[in-house]
Amino acid sequence: MRRWLVLSFVSVLSSPAWAWSDHASLLWPLVRVQPELLKPTLQAESLNDFIAAEAVGLALVLERHEAYARESMPHYAPRPETLVFSTNAEDLQDAFLRAIRVNPELGYSLFRQTTVEDRSVPSSQAQRFADLSPLAGGVSHDSIVYIALKEGDLVAPAHVLATGSDEPDFGMDIGLFEDNGTEFGAQYGFGVQPFGNPNLEYSSQAPFHMGFYHLDWVTKKAQPDLLRTYPEWRVSLFRELSRFAFETGHDYWGWRFAGWGLHYIGDLSQPYHAHPLPGVSTMAGIWTVIRGKTEEAIQLVSNRHGVLESYQYQRVQKALEEKSWDNVILTAVAQGTPVPEFSESTVRDELTKESVAVGGDLDASLEEHMPPRYVSDVNFEWNGSGEEAAIVVTVASDRGDLAIEALDAKVAEQMTRFSRFAQAWIKDAQRAWAASN
Ligand SMILES: [Zn+2]
Repeated sequence: MRRWLVLSFVSVLSSPAWAWSDHASLLWPLVRVQPELLKPTLQAESLNDFIAAEAVGLALVLERHEAYARESMPHYAPRPETLVFSTNAEDLQDAFLRAIRVNPELGYSLFRQTTVEDRSVPSSQAQRFADLSPLAGGVSHDSIVYIALKEGDLVAPAHVLATGSDEPDFGMDIGLFEDNGTEFGAQYGFGVQPFGNPNLEYSSQAPFHMGFYHLDWVTKKAQPDLLRTYPEWRVSLFRELSRFAFETGHDYWGWRFAGWGLHYIGDLSQPYHAHPLPGVSTMAGIWTVIRGKTEEAIQLVSNRHGVLESYQYQRVQKALEEKSWDNVILTAVAQGTPVPEFSESTVRDELTKESVAVGGDLDASLEEHMPPRYVSDVNFEWNGSGEEAAIVVTVASDRGDLAIEALDAKVAEQMTRFSRFAQAWIKDAQRAWAASN
């Protein structure tokens, strides 16, 4: 059993842990129809200026939140005392980034992502992913154009929120474990990377972007390291920081922190990010081990995870490029279904529970409608196969238009869940914003 699980997490996380690619574009269909978020009323402010202006209050907020996390989050890794945010720190921004335990080597500069509705950017202001992140990016990030902002530039909440919601994939959560070979990871107190291959560029962010809050008893016993996942903590922390920024009149940072938190909500709406092996029951898992078929089962789950994300990305991107706002997937993102009120228990007790509950059905649907080679061939490796860009064409030619229709409907179901929780999150931020204005 132990070997099964260890193997599974080296393998599953060999693929870049992106979940939904390009979170900003994914959010766009939802925020573009909310006029109150589209007026450019926020003044861009550097992170350093915000921290310097509010250092005393920030120190209190961070202390309070640390105490809360220790008390209420099972398996939380307490922040070492050496990282307490000090208002006397020589470099306040660096001290803040270390106190919240994100990668302190990123610039956290002022920028926003363009959308399909505003593509013209003066070349002097245009930026690419490589200007903002040390990571290799990938198909989705390479094509995005960003606009550099100056302090004081006016920008709309929708843009700040959407852009911020992609930022945790820029390397914010890379290298935070003590065996990741970084100077900060050695100090952050998260211990050794609980799963995934610490040598792969993206895999170290996985325990922050996957939340395994509903494991069965066998898995918990056999592989307790899987309990060390942190997106719930990230969401809660960024919610506190967002509220504090609104309360103190730094609305730009109120929305940017809200964007950061929204990233993890999006990731956890992806069933393969809420359970390590969706569709594999405890007994089936044990039986697989007994038959010696573990590596094969794991390869299939890993491929299905990657295939789903590639297909979703291609379908969303095409619909956005064509501005097909009535497309079934974009409509699912934008639709106004009843939303739950966001609270501290939402991530654990609602969002991830729902994602886990539909995992088996989603997995079966991929098995039914995707080309068998992609999802049922244990000798095939999706990651690095070079088939990502043409996936929709291949599905259409191998399985026919009905398969596309069925898969679109299945992706739309996942997007409906994403939308419901994203709306709850945005409403929560809007309340905090309104209360301070
Ligand atoms: Zn992510």
